[in-house]
Amino acid sequence: MPNHNPLSRREFVRDAAVLTGCFAWAAEHDANAAPPAQATGEKQLTAEESLRDLLEGNARFADGRAENPRRSPKDFAAGADTHLPQAVIVGCADARVPPEVLFDQGVGDLFVVRVAGNIINGAGATVKGSIEYAVLELGVPLIVVLGHANCGAVKAAIKHLDANDTLPGAIESLVLNIKPTVATIRNKPGDLLENAIRANVAAGVETLKKLDPIVAPAIREGRLRVVGATYDLRAGRVALVA
Ligand SMILES: [Zn+2]
Repeated sequence: MPNHNPLSRREFVRDAAVLTGCFAWAAEHDANAAPPAQATGEKQLTAEESLRDLLEGNARFADGRAENPRRSPKDFAAGADTHLPQAVIVGCADARVPPEVLFDQGVGDLFVVRVAGNIINGAGATVKGSIEYAVLELGVPLIVVLGHANCGAVKAAIKHLDANDTLPGAIESLVLNIKPTVATIRNKPGDLLENAIRANVAAGVETLKKLDPIVAPAIREGRLRVVGATYDLRAGRVALVA
């Protein structure tokens, strides 16, 4: 990690005894209150530090130098009473895109929301509420919307864009959320699938940037940054796209 040691960060947090139970905040939380991470004074990373650390971790992973940090019993036991992830990753459910692995992070480092097609707009309150919780209650400074090459959900949106058909079960609704974005870039030069994957990530980023009453104000106040990225399945590398 740049400029700090992640273990010492977590040790400090543990000493600060921030006991944020999962979703225990709901009933009494004031939306204007500072998140516990700030309120108790322990050190959270800045968005820039977090992003740099994620990209450095991805470089280690892609180059075969992964350190697999914070995965031993002493690590996860030590963090049992604290919850201070450095980033939210909104990623695809695709089995080939596991955030902790490809960013070379450990237990407690990432707040991961995974849904096929890494959709946000139209995904409903469960996805947005999860993200908002991480921002409001955990003081997470960075959100990464992470798409990936060869995404099956985006491929389905392309395949069924003009087809007058209905996909089985809830898959229809899921793919419907991606189709409008695909429609906006269908005539752009270049590879349609790659363009659609990037556009789908960008649409997610834009949705979050406008998401009131928690995410958008946090961005305006400089407490939060939202970026979009794609992951190359073959090379193992993450590239920023938005
Ligand atoms: Zn996917």
